[in-house]
Amino acid sequence: MPEDKPASDFRYATGEARVPWAAVGEHLGHEDLMRLVEFLARPEAGQEEEYDRRLTEVQAALGKLSEVSGPATKLSLGDNVSKLAAEARELLGCKYACFVTNATAGFEMALQYANVGPGDEVIVPGITFIATMMYPLQSGAKVVFADVDPNTINIDPADVERKITDRTKAIIPVYIGGYPPEMDALMEIAEANDIMVLADAAHAFGGSYKGRAAGTVAHFGAYSFHEVKNINALGEGGIVVTDEDFGKYFPQMRFLGVDMSQQIPNWLYDVIAPPGKYGPVVPGNHSATEIQAVCLSGQMARLGEVIEERRANAEYLNERFAEVEGIIPCPLDTEDKKSTYHLYLLRIDHEVIGQDVQVFRQKMDARGVTQIPHFAPLYHFRICRDLGYDTEAIAKSCPNVEMVFNHQFTHLPLYPLSSEQLEYMADAVIDAVEEMKAGK
Ligand SMILES: *Cc1c(COP(=O)(O)O)cnc(C)c1O
Repeated sequence: MPEDKPASDFRYATGEARVPWAAVGEHLGHEDLMRLVEFLARPEAGQEEEYDRRLTEVQAALGKLSEVSGPATKLSLGDNVSKLAAEARELLGCKYACFVTNATAGFEMALQYANVGPGDEVIVPGITFIATMMYPLQSGAKVVFADVDPNTINIDPADVERKITDRTKAIIPVYIGGYPPEMDALMEIAEANDIMVLADAAHAFGGSYKGRAAGTVAHFGAYSFHEVKNINALGEGGIVVTDEDFGKYFPQMRFLGVDMSQQIPNWLYDVIAPPGKYGPVVPGNHSATEIQAVCLSGQMARLGEVIEERRANAEYLNERFAEVEGIIPCPLDTEDKKSTYHLYLLRIDHEVIGQDVQVFRQKMDARGVTQIPHFAPLYHFRICRDLGYDTEAIAKSCPNVEMVFNHQFTHLPLYPLSSEQLEYMADAVIDAVEEMKAGK
């Protein structure tokens, strides 16, 4: 390796060479690019003929471009992946950031740092997406479900404190819908008990808590760029962040422990087990691609506008619902808490209305507003019974989870809806609730 070439964790970083292959694989040609164009820019209904005409023009232009252009030099873990991580560090104000396949991979890397495994306990909120509990279960640890605050559906620090034992290794608060949990209280409990806090900030990229970026007010945080999130990395992607020294090993945690800064004799690299909190850990493969990084970097540049539009939509819904008895509107930003408005938290007061949220969902369905429920209590899924959890006892220990899930809450989408669609949705909610109050 030439002196002036920096050490790298990237495979096949061949640099300036006489025979400059990018990787040992087929190049992406302009025919492949054409397929991508066709996939990403699809014909509008009724515009098929015009679409075909313009597509032919694009094809000719791409063919011409290919006469004077070479292929992308790297497709996985290249300069764009590095650049994206630098942009994320800048935006979030954190020390280490790493772009990975998805948020779940980031959770895995963070929990490996705490050497979570059999005999350990990990506390998660009773309601969240299943990804939050999967690595703890996979590792052989026991998952302990904490109750939630009905006003935000976020984890209740007082219940976390009650459920800590001397086996608790990690707490995973979730920013449900993008709204910050009580991070100060949780961090205090964690410090007092030497427990690692991993923020599941899958919904919260761009939000903040007391002036600090959501997800960075914890030992580790991870964000999701899956296609349903506010911004996405061509369908899948995640960023994991930390200020802990372990962040130095993110590249090895992402890619099989490969360390290009050291070599065994007669070979290109060494492979290491990075030092976790209590001992060495074995990395997996969570590599992300250059194309994903390019896409996400573009979306990151528009993040402010994206959140602004969603905030305006949430404010509109709150105004519409303010007058309606029995609808509890979504918590909005405060001085300390800035949401990303990934989802609109809608609660109904089932005691005022006389019926519960399950009836409400059917009524919304009948009005064509479907796919609104988010999320179910995790211990209701069969996996917990399969693994021998006493799910009835867990339900009793999470009274707010049961109450909000059975009677009160759902989430409405806030993604770019036209004002007519948003108005239709608000009308549908109000109609449904008025019908329920009238006993229909
Ligand atoms: C989407 C989501 C995840 C998982 O994100 P991936 O990038 O798909 O791994 C984790 N937690 C919550 C709350 C989510 O909604």
